[in-house]
Amino acid sequence: MKKAIITGISGQDGYFLSKLLHSKGYEIHGVIRRNSSMSVGNLSLLPEEVRSRIVIHYGDLTDANFFAKLLAEERPDELYHLAAQSFVGYSFQNPSSTYDVNISGTLNVANAVKDYSPDTKMYFAATSEMFGQPDIVPQNEETPFKPRSPYAISKLAGFWTTKTYREAYGLFMANGICFNHESEVRGPEFVTRKISLAVADIARGSNKPLELGNLGARKDWGYAEDYVEGMRMMLNSKEPDDFVFGTGEVHTVREFTDEAFHVAGIPIRWEGEGIQERGVMGNGKVIVRVKRELYRPLESDNFLADYSKAEMKLGWKPKTKFKELVKLMVENDLNRRD
Ligand code: NAP
Repeated sequence: MKKAIITGISGQDGYFLSKLLHSKGYEIHGVIRRNSSMSVGNLSLLPEEVRSRIVIHYGDLTDANFFAKLLAEERPDELYHLAAQSFVGYSFQNPSSTYDVNISGTLNVANAVKDYSPDTKMYFAATSEMFGQPDIVPQNEETPFKPRSPYAISKLAGFWTTKTYREAYGLFMANGICFNHESEVRGPEFVTRKISLAVADIARGSNKPLELGNLGARKDWGYAEDYVEGMRMMLNSKEPDDFVFGTGEVHTVREFTDEAFHVAGIPIRWEGEGIQERGVMGNGKVIVRVKRELYRPLESDNFLADYSKAEMKLGWKPKTKFKELVKLMVENDLNRRD
């Protein structure tokens, strides 16, 4: 039986990866940081048969000793390093803690593998945000990185740590350069989930309009379940390498919003421009407003994935299309009981 450790198991990707590895018969260990309410995030949403088999280790990314001891004791076959301060907006407000967690934290994980469990294969969760505002479209593994946020800078440091350790020490360490991937368990502050939650509330009669930033931001959005398959494929291929995962389709925030209201049976029309733009229902009620504060200090968009290397070398392809993704997220929130 293969043994895997997942950092960030309580996050979105941890949820889907736990399900996938369970279905493949892995022994799963997950790292969770303690909080005062002892909540375990998306782990609590996992089916009981999966959750009850996960061995939890309480620890923080910034604690090098914790990871050294964990790797020395468990010596897993695979380590999926997903834990991070993952929200771009927050990284502008709190760059220091973003760097501590994402840069020092990744170094702690990589050093623990190098020093205490060098046969462990490690996946690092890199990101399309590292491309910044790319003028080359679509982006692949050869596209230059031009990060435009503290989050993207921190992930680029993790990317280079992973690549450098692979080359310097002959370790199996690999970077997944994932484009945005969403789901019904996406954190509520991320724009797609913010939209699906607000649309469901408005469908239930809420008068609170959905507040958004740049409606024209263009993203390559896929379904998280597809991306965790790519992560496992990477660690089960012969050579460690870096791969882009995305859909090869681009949509704006406005299109996502349109489609989400469509799924809820609420036709929406757009009026005005820029910061004055708003989404209006048939009866004239304003249901979407643009807020300047929700724009990023530096926008990064124009994202479009060229995942041909993953397709050719791993046999990976996204299965879920844009409309299906929006539908499953909105329907999940419409059916939510809380
Ligand atoms: P997520 O839902 O935000 O999950 C992040 C996880 O990291 C959570 O389990 C969180 O724990 C944990 N974490 C944060 N700080 C920690 C610390 N100091 N010590 C230990 N654990 C800590 O992110 P995701 O969407 O699953 O993404 C997984 C990874 O892929 C992240 O590294 C993200 O940056 C990267 N990525 C994501 C996307 C995407 O579109 N989803 C795209 C490219 C790359 P708590 O539950 O305690 O907060």
